[in-house]
Amino acid sequence: MATGVQAVREMLRERGAVLLAHNYQRPEVQDAADFVGDSLELSLKAAEVDARVIVFAGVDFMAEQAALLNPGRVVLHPEPSARCPMASMLTPDVVRWYRGRYPKAPFVVYVNSLAEVKALADYVVTSANAAKLVAQLDSDVVLFGPDRHLAEYVAEVTGKEVIPVPESGHCPVHVVITREELEAARREHPRARVLAHPECVREVRRAADFVGSTSQMVRSAIELGGGEFIVATEVGLIHRLRRVGVEAYPASGYAVCVEMKKVTLRSIAESLASGRGVVRVDERVAARAREAISRSLEALGVVPPWSRS
Ligand code: SF4
Repeated sequence: MATGVQAVREMLRERGAVLLAHNYQRPEVQDAADFVGDSLELSLKAAEVDARVIVFAGVDFMAEQAALLNPGRVVLHPEPSARCPMASMLTPDVVRWYRGRYPKAPFVVYVNSLAEVKALADYVVTSANAAKLVAQLDSDVVLFGPDRHLAEYVAEVTGKEVIPVPESGHCPVHVVITREELEAARREHPRARVLAHPECVREVRRAADFVGSTSQMVRSAIELGGGEFIVATEVGLIHRLRRVGVEAYPASGYAVCVEMKKVTLRSIAESLASGRGVVRVDERVAARAREAISRSLEALGVVPPWSRS
């Protein structure tokens, strides 16, 4: 089976399929994709495009979210074993336990969580809009999971008490980036500005010129007029930035998400050829998760594509 970029594009066309790839995907997968972005951006994009089949190049919670936001379409996850370890750190039982302990606190979950967890949440946020949403909630105490570093960042920005759920949830890729590595990269590229993801540890965030989601980092690099940037996030974003003409260097060569890299052009071609990897989400879970996502988007002034007439 031919598995180059052009061969995959041809297979997508023949099957009326659209390929959505996360910013952390392999360069060649990004090159074959119809859209490259962060997970919510891609799921919303999927709801707008007229394609029967959606192929999601990312990890489990992303494909699951594309499926629950696009009922009636076939969503293929080409590599079902690609699972986000951080999403697995927050289980429905843990959510229920904290809800019982803090009955008045709204429960906000990061989009990097499983559908069953989103179904139990009041709000679902991205790293781009977490602080904005938490700031406008009518409560000074908020439960937030699964990433404790993003919870800490939201607390810093909003001044609220943001309780991390679970206590030690984290992205194993972002926590390997150290302040020392960042300083070494700065010495090597003295003219470069630093963009950091809020999943990074506090010392790295504080040393950055800009903190934001992957999509915000891309926008910010363009708005800052290009030039050189050191990026404190998964190394896949380097390719995305270079595609838009931005010279970018990794803060740490160790920030590689092996789960994201499991998806290859071959696994995409095989999934398209065989129909392997269809994502199924229990309809009751999907309906509750959709409600939490819609509530969050509406609170942020965004009309969800599935609510537009
Ligand atoms: S980079 Fe981190 S949060 Fe993203 S999929 Fe990999 S482990 Fe999960």
